[in-house]
Amino acid sequence: MPELPEVEVVRAGLAATATGRRVVRLVSRVPALRWPIPPQALEQPVGRVLLGVERRSKYLLLSFEPGCLIVHLGMSGTLSWRSVDAPLRAHDHLDLVFEQGLLRLNDPRRFGAVLWHPAAAGAPQTHPLMARLGVEPFSPEFTAERMFEHTRGRTLSIKSLLLSGSVVVGVGNIYASESLFRAGIRPTTAAGRIGLARYQRLATAIRETLSEAIAAGGSTLRDFVSSEGASGYFQQTCFVYDRAGQPCRVCGQGVRSLRQQQRATFWCSTCQT
Ligand SMILES: [Zn+2]
Repeated sequence: MPELPEVEVVRAGLAATATGRRVVRLVSRVPALRWPIPPQALEQPVGRVLLGVERRSKYLLLSFEPGCLIVHLGMSGTLSWRSVDAPLRAHDHLDLVFEQGLLRLNDPRRFGAVLWHPAAAGAPQTHPLMARLGVEPFSPEFTAERMFEHTRGRTLSIKSLLLSGSVVVGVGNIYASESLFRAGIRPTTAAGRIGLARYQRLATAIRETLSEAIAAGGSTLRDFVSSEGASGYFQQTCFVYDRAGQPCRVCGQGVRSLRQQQRATFWCSTCQT
């Protein structure tokens, strides 16, 4: 599944390669991905210049003068530049055809989304899908104090809280295990029992972990396509993720694993307290 770092690399690549290009047409080969593709999404960008590409959580926001095309890659989506005569492959669901080149959305599992948010409705970040999300990890609003205050009295585990996206977005399963290891916090700890100093370590660890993943993606970038292929994750050296039974890179103890809310969690019982 493309996670925030992968989507951020797609955003940066799109912003660099597609901004300023004019849309000739959109071609949809399916009526719906996760939700029906509204006719406005296919009609409104036509003849318009792409003004810029932003990101909110894992939503890509392609802005045009009449509004914003919202694209989510879901579990398996990829966007790639193809030549206009490139043969169709299975699951090539949508083309965004520019005057030069076309951008093709491929999504085998169809959990992605293509939606339209008219400019008259306000900033795209106010769309119902995004309005209630936690803060962005690289925004000034994401602070240890915010996490601390948000979690007082909460018995939910810190790992589950991070995955919920209610405090901060973008900390998916790999990044939650890795960030908690770097911060020295056991994933099962109740969020309400973590003090401010530990949240300061965690906020720093989250930013570092995500920054390194984005940098890893940027360095392996061919065009802007980040999530082509099955893994969906950048090659990053993990401290604990997917390393059950192997020695901890810091203390040498065997890395442990458990399941929390159906998701695998990895941790070191010596380094994380
Ligand atoms: Zn350890």
